[in-house]
Amino acid sequence: MRKIALEEHFMTPGMNGYWLPTVEDLPPALFEEVRGRLFDFGERRLAAMDEVGIERAVLSLAGPGVQVEPDAAVAVRAARECNDQLAAEVAKNPARFSGFAHLPLQDAPAAAAELERCVTELGMVGALVNGQTLGTYLDDPRYEVFWERAAALGAPVYIHPNDPPAPYGGWADAKILSRAAWGWTVETATHALRLVFSGVFDRYPAARVVLGHMGETLPYLLWRLDSRTKLYKAERPLQHPPSHYIRSNILVTISGQCAAEPLLCALASLGEDRVMFATDYPFESAEVHGRFMDAAPVSEAVRARICHGNAEALFRL
Ligand code: MN
Repeated sequence: MRKIALEEHFMTPGMNGYWLPTVEDLPPALFEEVRGRLFDFGERRLAAMDEVGIERAVLSLAGPGVQVEPDAAVAVRAARECNDQLAAEVAKNPARFSGFAHLPLQDAPAAAAELERCVTELGMVGALVNGQTLGTYLDDPRYEVFWERAAALGAPVYIHPNDPPAPYGGWADAKILSRAAWGWTVETATHALRLVFSGVFDRYPAARVVLGHMGETLPYLLWRLDSRTKLYKAERPLQHPPSHYIRSNILVTISGQCAAEPLLCALASLGEDRVMFATDYPFESAEVHGRFMDAAPVSEAVRARICHGNAEALFRL
């Protein structure tokens, strides 16, 4: 089945310093493999895509990029440079690559402007945001300008994991849980729920958020979120139960979740038009993801929607 893959990472020399601290705990052999593949926009990447029928990869910077840069002016400049470099790589092979913008979110108006530049001038299809920026999440009032612009542009925002702003005590003495195995799931699901409960989607119903990892557990939790949040006084009353926004404004990809159970849960909870293909290349195997999706226990019509149809509709590819 032909595929469009949505969480496919790259690196540039200018962004490498921001990325290295996030991979210091990777096994050295995996680190070397990943580093070689991240900088490659040619043969190795295309071979991995061809092997499992990935016709198009939407490329995004491996995080956290400028989102951890303390100097906002530096972040604005470096994000722009990164986006220009990505656009140049996509332009070399526009039949196979598209791009997600990298944004300097410590300056919300500049991030909104850069998103608009990337979409309207560089042909990018949305943005990928690496979680919180210097401790601030996208529900902060300063990001009204960003959501207003993203909704007006019809530009989906992929919320990718990042470390939390402060170490979490729950796994202070259980480091294995702190990142990709569990901590990033908690952090990213929390980020998405902050958007839901702050009313971002009431104010910008056209806003679309994409979550990887089969929705960071949210498809499993809809009933409980609706039920239990009724118990507490909301900081901001919502027009609908939380499940409404998770179904309407949030789409998910299968990145890093090659198992039938969460796939079937996501399809049942969110709908056949809400699940898309991604591989988290090169941190995970494109081959494993492709083979999983080709054999997953769904109808051929649903497989086609997941592999390419839903992404074509969302990103107007
Ligand atoms: Mn990733």
